[in-house]
Amino acid sequence: MTCEREKVEDVDLSIVVPAHNEGDGLRATLDTIAAAASKCTESWEIIAVDDGSQDATWQEIGGAVRSSPRMRGIRFSRNFGKEAALLAGLRAARGRAVVTMDADLQHPPDLLPEIYDRWKKGAKVVHAVKRNRTTESKMIIWRAKVFNTLLTRLGGIDLGNASDFKLIDRVVVDVLTKSMSEKKRFYRGLTSWVGFPSVKVEFDVPHRAQGHGNWTLRQLLDLSVTALVSFTSAPLRIVTLLGGVTLVFGFIVVTDALISWFRGIAVSGFVTLVGTLLVIGSMIMISLGVIGEYIAKIYDEIKSRPAYLIESRSGFESATESDDVSPGVTDKFTRHEHQSID
Ligand code: UDP
Ligand code: MG
Repeated sequence: MTCEREKVEDVDLSIVVPAHNEGDGLRATLDTIAAAASKCTESWEIIAVDDGSQDATWQEIGGAVRSSPRMRGIRFSRNFGKEAALLAGLRAARGRAVVTMDADLQHPPDLLPEIYDRWKKGAKVVHAVKRNRTTESKMIIWRAKVFNTLLTRLGGIDLGNASDFKLIDRVVVDVLTKSMSEKKRFYRGLTSWVGFPSVKVEFDVPHRAQGHGNWTLRQLLDLSVTALVSFTSAPLRIVTLLGGVTLVFGFIVVTDALISWFRGIAVSGFVTLVGTLLVIGSMIMISLGVIGEYIAKIYDEIKSRPAYLIESRSGFESATESDDVSPGVTDKFTRHEHQSID
């Protein structure tokens, strides 16, 4: 089925919304975001990225696209993760400024006019930071604290209460999508790494509009490792340091044993020996693991597989419009009108 879509040429503000199993209420969320966007400017667009959902997310996006020429949708062939969804959205965005925000209304759309205003006043990056985290569980707050402390101490990047709710100027979008070839990314860190004049706007995190958190423990661990590995080589230095410490320790033990031997005292201490071996053994294992993480990251990047694969698009004039990295695969699956997976 083809329907005539009004052409949207000029876009001031693009809003990228990654969604994974957000079917319930997604339509209402997109409408709320659209209402907030039209308070900023008349020329806006929303790009909803369905990150391989198993529910009606894609159908909901399709409905939204049919109802407004300013809505567009991308569907991944499977779940590639939020970072990949953000990247696909940024590549497809045409706006002079691009906002990234969650599909569960935990990033309040009411804040959009203020964020947009800051950009108008000259900021190239507007970070929305969490004022309080009272709606989150103690476990989540603790996890975020450990993660942020590690990243600040080791990577020198202070993310504080940063979120993925941000506005970035076209210059920064181009840096992220065109000048960087990294496949596995950490958006929150990269937007701070790029520099450029930036400001912070605070917001209170409301409860999820519907459904529940989508992150699995594996995805969270994966993101934490990506963040650390891509922003700092400090763990490798710690490995070297550990090697130095164990060398000194070994030296002391050997010297002590030799002195005892010269004095004619039998070297005893089976437990000490086993203990030392175990400590050194586990340090070697941990060190190999740390080095392994970096090698895995190099391997991932070198394989050059695309960060995501697009199965369908909705509301796009042409496949190249979404600036995809894998034209062969994308062309094959491209549908110019909304089409459901089945
Ligand atoms: N999300 C995604 N892919 C995933 C997991 C999550 O696109 O694999 C989206 C999700 O639909 C939501 C946003 O990322 O729009 C944040 O996810 P969630 O609310 O689960 O995380 P939290 O609020 O705890 O950061
Ligand atoms: Mg959420």
